[in-house]
Amino acid sequence: MERHRFPWSTGDWRGQLAHAVTDVDDLLELVGLTRDAVDLGLDAEEAARNFRLRVPRAFVKRMRRGASSDPLLRQVLPTNGEMQPVRGFNVDPVGEASGGSAGGVLHKYRGRALLVVTGACAVHCRYCFRRHYPYGNETVQGQGLEQAIAALEADRSISEVILSGGDPLSLADEPLNDLCDAIEAISHVRRLRWHTRTPVVLPSRVDNGLLGVIAGRRKPLTIVVHANHAQELSEDVRIACCALAEAGIFLLNQSVLLAGVNDDVQSLVALSERLFDCRVLPYYLHLLDRVAGAAHFEVGEDEARTLMSEVSVRLPGYLVPRLVREVEGAPAKVVVGQDVVPDPCSREGV
Ligand SMILES: *Cc1c(COP(=O)(O)O)cnc(C)c1O
Ligand code: SF4
Repeated sequence: MERHRFPWSTGDWRGQLAHAVTDVDDLLELVGLTRDAVDLGLDAEEAARNFRLRVPRAFVKRMRRGASSDPLLRQVLPTNGEMQPVRGFNVDPVGEASGGSAGGVLHKYRGRALLVVTGACAVHCRYCFRRHYPYGNETVQGQGLEQAIAALEADRSISEVILSGGDPLSLADEPLNDLCDAIEAISHVRRLRWHTRTPVVLPSRVDNGLLGVIAGRRKPLTIVVHANHAQELSEDVRIACCALAEAGIFLLNQSVLLAGVNDDVQSLVALSERLFDCRVLPYYLHLLDRVAGAAHFEVGEDEARTLMSEVSVRLPGYLVPRLVREVEGAPAKVVVGQDVVPDPCSREGV
């Protein structure tokens, strides 16, 4: 097999994952900031104990030095206030832990089953709606795997299986390959999907080992990555995503609309354009799930609509993500409609 030439070696990602930054002071030192500059108090310490800081150095390198409001830093740095209860924000905002999950299989939408493959992620995002998820007893690893496969086999309505988590690319190539083989062996499953942030935060995970796993696929595979800001999409990320595209993968992106990260027209437009440079199409822009500890990231629905209507006059239709909200009990992600606004360019007579 022709080996792809990456600027990193196969398997490098393991060491990089092991050496991810997990200490707040280490992170601040790397980005040239002090505790005072980022308002880090006792509450943030407790938040970090609750849901640990974790970020690969490859991602830290893309943060601007000395910028306390850097959009990448903001996504990973525990902040004061995370432990303060806010009305309407709770530990299970989309009703996952309380129902619908049987041994790590979530069957919420028709035709699609989502497997919680692992609780591990290369990065810990402060806004994550699964930050309080009881992964210990709700993944398909170990004994749960056989049961999960049996459940998929028994339900002929399932035509697509989504590997999620946590992050399925936290798995090594071999278990990932075995899992995909087992799923593909189920005749009524037509498509596979991976939901992963790893190609963005740790692009060296995309190496010849992973391309081997992909080359072994017999059914179409879609990879849905997760980037929230153009600054996340470094040249290494572009190389990783292009390698996936060249391997025949359909690449989509999902983002979360986050206050202080990407809640302005310029950031959203730049994100879509940079994604396309990386051969990734924007798929969803999620309104924040109201998970405890993430209230400071919320953007209101009206503001989101206005933003998206402005974004949609600046981009070709295929680069405009669908603005969606997760509603407990709804049969699909709920699309949040856009307001129609006059084109500002035509008003100025340009
Ligand atoms: C979002 C989600 C899916 C996938 O939904 P699509 O609209 O097909 O992308 C499937 N299962 C669960 C539990 C989800 O949360
Ligand atoms: S990578 Fe995804 S699942 Fe993992 S912490 Fe971030 S948002 Fe949550």
